Amino acid sequence: MNPRNRRQEVTRVFDGRTHHIALCRGFREGLPVFGWGEAPSTLLTKTQLRDAGLRPNGQDPLALLVFRHRKPYARETVSELFSVERAAPKRQAAPGQMDHAMEARRTCVDCTRVMGYCVPTSTRQCWDCFDNEHADRIEAAA
Ligand SMILES: [Zn+2]
Repeated sequence: MNPRNRRQEVTRVFDGRTHHIALCRGFREGLPVFGWGEAPSTLLTKTQLRDAGLRPNGQDPLALLVFRHRKPYARETVSELFSVERAAPKRQAAPGQMDHAMEARRTCVDCTRVMGYCVPTSTRQCWDCFDNEHADRIEAAA
């Protein structure tokens, strides 16, 4: 065990609901630093929040998670920790918005027909209009 890793200081973390008294490994930029598995359980990284279907919701990080990868270079990784209590569910489009967006993606900008497939985002045209335009260009070039 590396004795440097045993250095611990007492810190208080308020996650928006609970005051946690925790042992941290010091402070960086005014934020308590925790090792892997040492932070209060209501503090999660962005990745962990996302995995839980949450987003930070504009809150400032409450602490830092610092750990080293075992491979390949024992690179130190610093992740910001956010409160689950202050997090919000990931934004999801309402069903009506989804239908509207899907219809827009299936609508040809030329003939305004709603197709049974998503029109290419590059042209926003149905295949008929694309073919017609393409044919015109070939004729014009001939
Ligand atoms: Zn069309």
